[in-house]
Amino acid sequence: MLVTLRDAPADAEIISHQLLIRGGFIKRITSGIYAYLPLMWRVIQKINCIIREELNAKGCLEALLPQLHPSDLWKKTGRWEGYTAGEGIMFNLKDRQGRELGLGPTHEEIITQIAGESLHSYKQLPVNLYQIQTKFRDEIRPRFGLMRSREFIMKDAYSFHANEEDLKTSYASMDDAYRKIFERCGIKTVAVEADSGAIGGAASQEFMVTADAGEDLILISKDGKYAANQEKAISIPKAAIPLEKNAPILIETKNQNSINELCLNQNFQADQIIKVIVMLAILENGREQPVLISIRGDQELNETKLSNEISKFLNKNLIALKSITEDDLDRQGLINIPFGSIGPDLEDVMLSNASSWNKKFVRFADKTAAELELFVCGANKTEQHRAFSSWSDVGGLPKVVDIRKAKPGDQCFYDNKQFLIEKRGIEVGHIFQLGRKYSSSLEANFTNEKGSSEPFWMGCYGIGVSRIAQAAVEQSHDQSGIIWPLSISPFEVIIVIANIKDEVQNRLGEDIYKQLRHKGIDVLLDDRDERAGVKFKDADLIGIPWRVVVGRDSSSGKVELLKRSDRSVKLIESEIVVKELIAEISRKKSSISY
Ligand code: ATP
Ligand code: MG
Repeated sequence: MLVTLRDAPADAEIISHQLLIRGGFIKRITSGIYAYLPLMWRVIQKINCIIREELNAKGCLEALLPQLHPSDLWKKTGRWEGYTAGEGIMFNLKDRQGRELGLGPTHEEIITQIAGESLHSYKQLPVNLYQIQTKFRDEIRPRFGLMRSREFIMKDAYSFHANEEDLKTSYASMDDAYRKIFERCGIKTVAVEADSGAIGGAASQEFMVTADAGEDLILISKDGKYAANQEKAISIPKAAIPLEKNAPILIETKNQNSINELCLNQNFQADQIIKVIVMLAILENGREQPVLISIRGDQELNETKLSNEISKFLNKNLIALKSITEDDLDRQGLINIPFGSIGPDLEDVMLSNASSWNKKFVRFADKTAAELELFVCGANKTEQHRAFSSWSDVGGLPKVVDIRKAKPGDQCFYDNKQFLIEKRGIEVGHIFQLGRKYSSSLEANFTNEKGSSEPFWMGCYGIGVSRIAQAAVEQSHDQSGIIWPLSISPFEVIIVIANIKDEVQNRLGEDIYKQLRHKGIDVLLDDRDERAGVKFKDADLIGIPWRVVVGRDSSSGKVELLKRSDRSVKLIESEIVVKELIAEISRKKSSISY
């Protein structure tokens, strides 16, 4: 079944998505839901094979967990609300008895419960279980085909340990396995430091395929020694130009509600102003918590860092974090808050009329704001600001945290002679030291060497299998189509019989096909009754690394051998082509050394 299309559908925005649709690898069923057609299924199986080999070599054990999850498990970890309400991504349903179930987006709850009931002693540890399975996530913006779909294939692994050192050993071993897996799949990745949520301290690393179509922004030092997802990245902000010492004054700032307008009209610089932002955190218990943030005017807020700080500060999971507009304030009945002139010391009493919000701010100052000795900031009165104020003039410093976005061009924190460079990345894998978050909330305990009971130390490790299949195409293609890495290509060789009405060509083509198959080569025979040109175009599109064209020269026992990656062609004897392909392919197959 080789059904190719001349044109890609309009919704296929990126090249890999277009090529996979045109090549007949995938078929869209509805938003974010795709069928893997036979060619694609071969690619997926090959990726899975590589994953299995590398994980089994590390002593991981394969299992298969249920996709229907009872809500009570997710309630115990406090994730049910966040994953099902509002922007939550868990598909959920009720069974005939009215019991709530979710379709598994990830499996920490299930696996932790199993471990808690099956592993009792430190003597049984460590254990690392993995599965390769379809995951369901009702993504807010499904797009780019298999890159961000709502039903996708993931390898997820979870490890259980008696102590943190052992977890770290396993984490390093998985890091090594991941590097081998990606290398064997023929994709180039960079490992970057990643956000590890509010639980803090725990290490987390993502593996990124660099490509312009990537959804993640990564920041890398020139020497490549530092690489981090922007969500997590730290850097040295450019130094602020200090304000001259002056007595604090009040300034009239009519129509100057933004940093830009203030700078233009008042002759200040953005880095001399404190920008005060109101955000709303929706907590796991449904509470709406207003947050007042002070940050230097030339800096941007990193919402991931902020969410983590709020969550840590209140010891609650966050369901969502929202920016607040003047209209939102009006809707809360907070008409007295002078939007555009808010200062860090905006009083809590301003919230007393709030219809549903908590009536006390959580207050944070980013380090960049905290470090300013004198600054300009809102005066908490419409169209008025204060200049030459210090923190003691505005009621003292709130809690100081790092919540600024590191930016390309910033000095690298680890080496201030280097500047961060920006790249876009497609996340294909993630390894994570979870610690005891899930084992504690699910009371999954074991007996330690001293005979007392404690929660497991856990790690979790994901790979986006279907995403890799597409990322490989994003990384390796030309204007005529896909160029599959040999190891994950649906077939290693394609034999194209130019004219199937020619008996000699037919016989020779089939003979080469049989010989290659006999030697264990994955070979596809294109003996469709189509014009040769059509078959060549299709072969280019579907991207099989080696092509044997059995055409006019068959009568003299010669065929053409074409290498898809560089399009080099040579005319050779049919016996030699078989030998050469076997040599090429087995050389490639064994070129990875461990
Ligand atoms: P992202 O930030 O891209 O949404 P994530 O942090 O939610 O990813 P994990 O929960 O760590 O991802 O999942 C493990 C892996 O599964 C990811 O590294 C990614 O490769 C893949 N993955 C996650 N979401 C999707 C999706 N919607 N479609 C395809 N693959 C996905
Ligand atoms: Mg996600």
